[in-house]
Amino acid sequence: MTDRFSFNLKHTDGRARTGVISTTRGEIRTPAFMPVGTAATVKAMMPESVAATGADILLGNTYHLMLRPTAERIANLGGLHKFMNWDKPILTDSGGFQVMSLSDLRKMSEKGVQFQSHIDGSKHFLSPERSMEIQKLLGSDIVMCFDECPALPADRTRLNESMQMSMRWAARSKDAFGDRPSHALFGIQQGGLEQDLREESANALTEIGFDGYAVGGLAVGEGQEAMFGCLDFAPEQLPTDKPRYLMGVGKPDDIVGAVKRGIDMMDCVLPSRSGRTGQVFTRNGVVNIKNARHADDPRPLDEKCTCPACSKYSRAYLHHVFRSQEMISGMLLTWHNLHYFQEIMQGMRDAIAAGTFAAWEADFHAGRANGDIEQL
Ligand SMILES: [Zn+2]
Repeated sequence: MTDRFSFNLKHTDGRARTGVISTTRGEIRTPAFMPVGTAATVKAMMPESVAATGADILLGNTYHLMLRPTAERIANLGGLHKFMNWDKPILTDSGGFQVMSLSDLRKMSEKGVQFQSHIDGSKHFLSPERSMEIQKLLGSDIVMCFDECPALPADRTRLNESMQMSMRWAARSKDAFGDRPSHALFGIQQGGLEQDLREESANALTEIGFDGYAVGGLAVGEGQEAMFGCLDFAPEQLPTDKPRYLMGVGKPDDIVGAVKRGIDMMDCVLPSRSGRTGQVFTRNGVVNIKNARHADDPRPLDEKCTCPACSKYSRAYLHHVFRSQEMISGMLLTWHNLHYFQEIMQGMRDAIAAGTFAAWEADFHAGRANGDIEQL
């Protein structure tokens, strides 16, 4: 255990990196995938089950928690870790992205964003200062700067103005965060798909100085090709000795492509959300458990997977409980998906350490190209 937040970059292979982030609540092996615990729970999973999949850290959403049950209530109950029974590290987002995507009647100014709750219409205000206060109340180990994330496509003038404001908000976030060496504050690079705006943003953030740097403003509708195009330059504009976090990504092949381009951390609701809708990610690509072809199939989802869904149940059972809308369906499929995502991360960490990332990646794509096993 350590009393300071730190990052130890251990190996690189091409642009891919592996290392360890040390926090007071434990180590985070990178590249790391963070399951999303929106409302103080990773839906359909017990916290110990999330840890059993191999997750070292999870993400909590400031926007959701500030509205319900409120950050003040969670603080009074001992903080988010205690509240949700998760003693490993937690990263919280700033609330900015979800204010833009979920709330009603937003009014944005240099000061911050006034908005109405999507739950009950109540009025709230978020600013860099208020976001830092909320994330401190929650007890988050990794705090994100409050920023604005414009939807893509957006014109260059809009992207530039938005990025400039986010940089001013980043400086305010740093001031409000204060001196807390056992906790980390990450800056967020913006600038859309524009290389020079990204560069300017990276320089502004580096000047302020953060414990880690996120590539923000991607995975907002630009498509994989455009995202990879941006990741061909964006991570390398950020300091090499700090963790780089790509927010809101993604599908398995997005994750692999991001790590290949120098990303260390990611988060996404996809494995848990898909688990609840019957979509399963496997070594052989996507399986839709609701399809009738599984109804009589006694084989596991993936014979090589050691998760409970694959080691103890048949495709026929998983199909049945999904069709019957039984709760165990979401539980098992979420577990499998999270397990599979963590297996990808472990595979990449091992391959980068061994200098065999290219071979690992070729194998990953070959498995997916095979497609699902033949129908019985
Ligand atoms: Zn499995």
